[in-house]
Amino acid sequence: MASWNTLQQELEQLQMEGRYRPLTVWESGSGAWMTLNGRSVLQMSSNNYLGLTEHPGMKEAAIRAIEKYGVGSGSVRTITGTLDIHDQLEQELARFKGTEAALVFQSGFTANQGVLASLLGPDDVVISDELNHASIIDGIRLTKAQRKVFAHKDMDQLEAALKESAGFQKRIVVTDGVFSMDGDIAPLPTIVALAEKYDAFVYVDDAHASGVLGKNGKGSTDHFGLHGRVHIQIGTLSKAVGAVGGYVACDQVVKDYLIHKARPFLFSTSQTPAVAATCLSAIQVLGQSGDLIAKLWENAAYFRSKVQALGFDTGASETPIIPVIVGNPAKTMQFSDLLLQEGVYAQGIVYPTVAMDKGRVRFIVTAQHTREDLDFALHALHKAGKQILE
Ligand code: PMP
Repeated sequence: MASWNTLQQELEQLQMEGRYRPLTVWESGSGAWMTLNGRSVLQMSSNNYLGLTEHPGMKEAAIRAIEKYGVGSGSVRTITGTLDIHDQLEQELARFKGTEAALVFQSGFTANQGVLASLLGPDDVVISDELNHASIIDGIRLTKAQRKVFAHKDMDQLEAALKESAGFQKRIVVTDGVFSMDGDIAPLPTIVALAEKYDAFVYVDDAHASGVLGKNGKGSTDHFGLHGRVHIQIGTLSKAVGAVGGYVACDQVVKDYLIHKARPFLFSTSQTPAVAATCLSAIQVLGQSGDLIAKLWENAAYFRSKVQALGFDTGASETPIIPVIVGNPAKTMQFSDLLLQEGVYAQGIVYPTVAMDKGRVRFIVTAQHTREDLDFALHALHKAGKQILE
């Protein structure tokens, strides 16, 4: 008889290792304080960096779009699923990013998968940072390109890989703009200089840099003043932008190619009208987001310095993603549970998402947090840390 026994055994193994993670079910929207089992909890794990999930103008745009277009788009983009708001969104994104064109996907994950799988063929080579996001890894796996992985931010290894790659048709260097588990920033100026030296393309995934780095959150290319020198910029509409979706900002020829080749684009129904309209409205909101982004960075600097002053290791963090490195997976999850008892939700992240001995509780600071919120979290950290780490 068919049985799921092997799955059950694997789950039991995860439980024994303290790595089993049931879903946490929330009863409110993702603001700074969220409701869990009827209790208000300080949220320090959401990617809602600027608090835009609750922006009144964006909510209004979604409601108006539902009234005008209905709740679904009815088709993939290449049939009847390209509405005028999808087209406008792409034009606005390209303008925002300073590129010729942009193409929207249903998520950042599918953007990476679709773009990498389309651009890389058997005669190409892809050179990827070892800590790049899972969607990049999966996108690369879908291709027959030669793969080379360099140690995290190791520019000597990158150069060596580029040197060995002269015989390939296309060379593409892929990096996250901001690394999601450590909160550090890619050395993009060096990557671009090396890519130029060896005639390679540069591909940056700005999921955690969109709305966070650069003027009005234009991303890491803008942050480093590298406009025109980064060939592929992936962005997400799911994190700081407050809705859901992903996009690639690129040359027109790349967009035209992807429209014909990118499988998640071709074979999956387009963003709902409400989502497309929300994202369109968000681009306008981002245009005036200077104060919000300044608040985000001020909060991040305050929180990180205080966490360090309490004696915790925040790793390489230099953005609003601030991990507290614990090490052992079971201890990490216990730490996260204790924080929740104190009223603070900060996600425990363990192997295989990070190395076995690099379990961490990942804090994400947002522009919505008040100084009192951050002090509340610091107090909880201090108390939980005493129980777990001493
Ligand atoms: N890239 C990176 C670096 C990410 O952190 C994420 C989200 N975890 C994604 C891509 C996927 O984005 P989305 O949530 O829009 O699918």
